[in-house]
Amino acid sequence: MTYLKSWVDSANSASTNFPLNNLPYGVFSIGNEAPRCGVAIGSHVLDVAAVESLGLLGVGDSPVCQDACWNPLMELGKQSWTLFRESLTALLSDGSAEQAQLEKHLYPLADAQMHMPFTVTEFTDFYAGRHHATNVGTMFRGAENALPPNWLHIPIGYNGRASSVVVSGTDVRRPWGQLKGPDQELPAFLPSRRFDLELEMGAIVGPASNGPVSVDEADAMIFGYVLLNDWSARDIQAWEYQPLGPFQAKATATTISPWIVTSAALEGFRVSTPEREFELLPHLKDTGPMLYDIDLTVTLAPQDKPATTIASTNYREMYYSAAQQLAHHSSSGCPMRTGDLLGSGTISGPEKSMRGSLLELSWGGKEPLTLDSGETRTFLEDGDTLTLHGHAQGDGFRIGFGDCVGTLVPALDDPYAR
Ligand code: CA
Repeated sequence: MTYLKSWVDSANSASTNFPLNNLPYGVFSIGNEAPRCGVAIGSHVLDVAAVESLGLLGVGDSPVCQDACWNPLMELGKQSWTLFRESLTALLSDGSAEQAQLEKHLYPLADAQMHMPFTVTEFTDFYAGRHHATNVGTMFRGAENALPPNWLHIPIGYNGRASSVVVSGTDVRRPWGQLKGPDQELPAFLPSRRFDLELEMGAIVGPASNGPVSVDEADAMIFGYVLLNDWSARDIQAWEYQPLGPFQAKATATTISPWIVTSAALEGFRVSTPEREFELLPHLKDTGPMLYDIDLTVTLAPQDKPATTIASTNYREMYYSAAQQLAHHSSSGCPMRTGDLLGSGTISGPEKSMRGSLLELSWGGKEPLTLDSGETRTFLEDGDTLTLHGHAQGDGFRIGFGDCVGTLVPALDDPYAR
């Protein structure tokens, strides 16, 4: 991908997350004004709702930027996405004739409050990172039985809750739930003591489908990606998960980064999935490089203390791509909707420093990690702030995601005590 120059100076720095090559889609507000669609460019956000109203931007006859969410563009499909992106790129390119008109609609990102960038219609979470599944399986079932027998043949997933997906910056409250330790005879209803993060990527479905789609069709349906922290109560999960999988353990909150980085912006960073131990069945086979080379890090900052990087990994560590997950999801005929969000599953790498959850980093709580502040952690403490960062590194520019931030706030008093 060639680096593109913009008339917005801050977009031309090698360290910005948002060069002209990126153009991620978000929803922002300034002060008390209503939220509206915006595109990040350098250290600014362009009010594209206003730009569309001026008649400078759009696809087809219907407006796509007036609903304070990107679903109207998402549902139109790849051809429209390309037209829209081309016209945005032209408007923001160095030498654009519209510069003077557009300058009035640029706001500093520092002044912008970010909102959910799209309406999440459904949320499905997968378990498709091999290192993570192996680590967790080893802890729970022993190294011999780490991967369940189906794991190398299908991307395992469960249907989650769209209602609990929140945008970066939203506080997350420690949940209550039924807990039962191995030495206890009966469960008790208590605040979770093993509350954790999961470092994931979220893939966002654009056009709806009704019936099985191929891996290539699925790939073309994916509008873009966000960083995703799938907060997880390990102790609630341990008691509830058999035989149907996680339920309340994953229902507290899932935080996403505020900018949708489009598949188009990531196109130059495609990489292949790892070598297959078993050949995948034809409907799930790779048809080309289906993952992306995206560096990912997580920092943990205790309340009023500096942040420590606790994990660094890369999206290319996944065993299954989002396109394969989507193809599998549809294979029974399951209709997919515009705004369907697919969590990749925790992205861990082969080294200890690459583990995308505290469950793995502290090996089930047995090996506390030491933070730069000198404190130790097995699981999250009240007041901890987690920040996920991600970017694809190009030649002299980067395609950045903007941070996915959440602070854990203390559990309320017993919600059922009257
Ligand atoms: Ca997850």
